[in-house]
Amino acid sequence: MHGVHKSYGTLEVLQGVDLVVRPGEVTVVIGPSGSGKSTLLRVINHLEKVDRGFVALDGDLIGYARRGDTLRELKEKEILRQRTRIGFVFQSFHLFPHLTALENVTEAPISAQGRPRAEVEAEARALLERVGLADKADARPRQLSGGQQQRVAIARALATRPTVLLFDEPTSALDPELVGEVLDVIHDLAHGGTTIVLVTHEIAFARQIADTVVFMDGGRVVEQGPPAQVLDHPVHARTRAFLDKVL
Ligand code: ADP
Ligand code: MG
Repeated sequence: MHGVHKSYGTLEVLQGVDLVVRPGEVTVVIGPSGSGKSTLLRVINHLEKVDRGFVALDGDLIGYARRGDTLRELKEKEILRQRTRIGFVFQSFHLFPHLTALENVTEAPISAQGRPRAEVEAEARALLERVGLADKADARPRQLSGGQQQRVAIARALATRPTVLLFDEPTSALDPELVGEVLDVIHDLAHGGTTIVLVTHEIAFARQIADTVVFMDGGRVVEQGPPAQVLDHPVHARTRAFLDKVL
């Protein structure tokens, strides 16, 4: 992300954010409520348009194509196809309620990527197994616990074979006893080399899996670096004040 600005009305929520996420690394974004973390993730996926600056993935602009010296916004269908390169896991799961777990996982690869159903289903079953839900393929979301629903959502995000996986507070809607099973899945993905950007308040977990911790406040990246630096020896007073509150 380079020089990204984003306002809602007169409120400038992202005030010039630069962020580099390297392949295979886990970037954990922390910061107070309202600091712009969710908006940051949403502009990466072009769920929100940037006002200024740009987001690029493997050299391709997100949401736009270059035409000479000008940019044109991609068409909806092209945006949907581009989004298949970016998996998104939301705080509140957002599964399709009328579809089974398996159908939730197969939907995007079939409809947005046009891949053959048989191949997609086989891969979806393997993904459900990977998140520990091989026996829940035919269950609908309302028949699953929150932790199980979030694991289906992770399998769904992986089904398009994305380049990067974004998580927006994936455990904050869960009952405490269900948090561990979701963190375990994210932990396995991180160790398997998946590129991850994770917004979370689970500081202990961030310390375990992050290659880079990014502290945001007031729409800016205040500081970033390895967890041992940002979490244990923060340079900025605002980072220290935040950590004092959450640790
Ligand atoms: P965080 O995820 O760090 O809590 P957000 O990115 O959700 O922060 O929000 C940052 C600020 O932008 C907040 O003040 C929030 O109220 C505001 N905001 C977020 N989304 C919208 C929106 N769609 N319209 C207007 N204001 C919004
Ligand atoms: Mg948020």
